[in-house]
This record gives sequence, C-alpha cells and structure tokens, in this order.
Amino acid sequence: MIEILPLGGLGEVGRNMTAVRFDDQWVIIDMGIRLDAVQAFEDLDISGMSSEELVNINAIPDDRLVRKRNVRAIVLTHGHLDHIGAVGKLAHAYDAPIYGTPFTIELVKKLVWEERTVKPKQEFVKVSPGDRIEIGDLEISFYHATHSIPQTVFVMLRMGERAVLCASDFKLDGAPLLGPPADLDELHRVGREGVSIALVGSVRVDEPGPTGSEAKARSMLEETMEKANSGGKALLATTFSSHIARIKSMVDISFQLGRVPVLVGRSLRSYVSTALKLGLVSLPEEVSMYGSPESMRKFLKKANGSKGDYVVICTGHQGEPGSILSRIADRQLPFRISSGDQVIFSVSVIPNPINQSNRELLETKLLAQGARVYRDVHVSGHAARADTAEFLRLVSPEHLVPCHGTPEKLKAMAALGRELGYGRPNIHLLENGSSLRLFT
Ligand SMILES: [Zn+2]
Repeated sequence: MIEILPLGGLGEVGRNMTAVRFDDQWVIIDMGIRLDAVQAFEDLDISGMSSEELVNINAIPDDRLVRKRNVRAIVLTHGHLDHIGAVGKLAHAYDAPIYGTPFTIELVKKLVWEERTVKPKQEFVKVSPGDRIEIGDLEISFYHATHSIPQTVFVMLRMGERAVLCASDFKLDGAPLLGPPADLDELHRVGREGVSIALVGSVRVDEPGPTGSEAKARSMLEETMEKANSGGKALLATTFSSHIARIKSMVDISFQLGRVPVLVGRSLRSYVSTALKLGLVSLPEEVSMYGSPESMRKFLKKANGSKGDYVVICTGHQGEPGSILSRIADRQLPFRISSGDQVIFSVSVIPNPINQSNRELLETKLLAQGARVYRDVHVSGHAARADTAEFLRLVSPEHLVPCHGTPEKLKAMAALGRELGYGRPNIHLLENGSSLRLFT
C-alpha cells in the first residue's frame, strides 16, 4: 500500500512537505516555510518561535498526522526556504536522518545553527545525483534536476515494483550555466523502470512555455546591463541570493563592462560563500562581498564617491524592508540614488500582496530619486506547461498528483494530465492533511 499525505504546499505557495508511506514505513519529503505568512508580521524573528506558534500562523506545515509514525528518512529536494525553512522547527520530532545534496545540507545546517528553540539532533547525510540508499526494503534514489538553485534533485522512493517520484521544483534546462544540463535520457530510463505515482510541481503550469534556459536569462541580463552602463552613473542589480548561476552572470558581465562587481547584503554573502566553499562556482579575486553592517556602510560610502566604477549587486529584489536596496531608497545608507542611476531587477515579483506592495513602494522611491528601473530581466526556474508535458511524457507515471501550487495551479496541472490522456481515476487533487491511498 502506498499513501501520499501532503502536509503543506497544496493550495498555497510555500511550506512544502509531503509524507509518503510504503506499508508501515514513512519518508518525509521537504520541510518548508511559507515566507508570506512570516512577512505579515514585521520584525518577526522566527528563530525563537515554537513550532506550534508557527503552525498557528500557517508559516510551517502542521505535521501532527505523521509525528508518531515510523518515519525512516527526511529527504530534502533542494535548498530553497519553501522546502527547507522548517527543518529547524520540525525535524527534532523524528528519529530519522536528513538526506540532501551538499549545498542543501550546508544551508540546512546554517538554519539549524540559528535555531534558538529545540535543535534537531539527527545525522545529516550528503547525497549526490545517481546515489541510491537502502533502508530495509525501501530504496531512495536521487536524480539531477535543473532549477534556480544549485544541486536540486528529483527523489524516487521505491519498494518492490512500486515507485513514487517527487518532482516538485524543476525545469528542463539544456543550458543551466552552472551544473549539468537536464538529462532527458535519464528521465526516460526512470520512466521505463516504472513510476507508479509522480508528485509534480504546478507553480508555472498555467503558462504556455516552455521556460527558457538560464543561458537566455544571461543574454537578457547582458543586453540590459549594457544599456544601463551609463558613464559615471550607479548600476545596481538584484536577484535571489540563492540563484548562484544568475549572480555569476552578473559578475561576469560587470567585468565585460569594465566595472568591478561587489556583492552587498548578508544573505548574498551567506549563499555565495557556501557555493564557493563547496567549489560549485568560482569568482575572480577582485570580487568583494560585504555582509556585516559596518563593512557594508564603509564600502557603500566609498562607492558613492565613484559610482561608475562598480556594479552593486545587492539584496532587495522583492522590495523587502531591511534589504540593502530598500535602505538605499530610504536614505538610510551612505549611498544616494541620483538622477540617471540604473537599477536592474533580475527576478519576477513573487505574486503575493505583501511582495507586490513592497516592490511597488521601492520602485516608486527609486523613480522619485531619479533612477531608471528595469524589471523582469529574468527567466523562471520552474517548468511551464509545454516542458511539464514533456516531463510527464518522459516519466509516464501511472498516477499524477499535482503539488506545490495554489488551487488554480493544481487544477491547471490536472487539466494538462487529462489532455495527455490520464483518466479521472489517475489524477488526484489533494489538500494539505488529506491522504491518498493506492495499491491497497
Ligand atoms: Zn525551489
């Protein structure tokens, strides 16, 4: 018997967590946080909050249904906070190791280190694509996936003839710039071995697609940065701090333009230094990173006097209060926006009311101070409809469970499934806390 029990991430974007059961053995996939639920409370420091408090504000999954079960493993697909952000809050309740790729594990360890309530005590096990772990008669296999953060994996759980594939966040990127391209032949092989159930992420399945490659994002960025390279004027660029491939493109293009790239912001320094430590990326020696308040102030004061020499790569892509870009726009830092300065947002706005209003406010301030603003210089990390269809054709699961998305997105995935020939008994629209049992 296989049971799929989603605990977060269905009918919403964020706090992904799913428990999968083969007979009496359970595996947990991901333990994420829902950032917009946390953002609603200004200055909220979650490191001191209990898991009960965070469950009550819908910030982390409510895992009570699986707590007393025979959980054999906690498996993390990648290092985005909506997949790992609740590990520090929930994992301590389980006597099971945590599996993830080296980059994911390093990020989780940092989160756990910051945790001020009950720290998880279990073992962290680093795995790589191609690895297979056996826990009794349960097999866990990892396959390379391309996404917007390094070392993302698809996770396959198999017992006997039955297998469950977890494919929450991915795109089929033939030119990801960092790490190998998507391996379609491997996915086809996985499909031929037999996939009983696939959980497939739905965040962009309502857009036609296919999603462009990261190489396309780089050429968009190149074109925009060239246009924005105005003599003597400031050039600021921002993207997700965990998007190492994009940050590397920003660095390379800065040198092409004859400017020195500088990374400013605590989270940028944290993610990039982890990637450097693991050898996932290399940056020229001239690239400096500033994360402490004093060092950031000192650098920004210097850069304010010679704006044309630098590209300031900084935090603040969603207009987050407290980020470097927001504080520059609020005139809280010794770097002033003046007429003709250029600001590039290499992201799309995450569509929730808090981000939308934060970004609008930030852009309004930047424009009022004379900046020119470039938006959406970006390609998503998620498969759209065409590439999700290709994925489903390659993997050809018997049953399809749409995951990771609002109710509309989950329905769009179900519609795609029907178009590809799946009958109603083989498509399962689930909700958090409601389980699906098959092969009983
Ligand atoms: Zn992700």
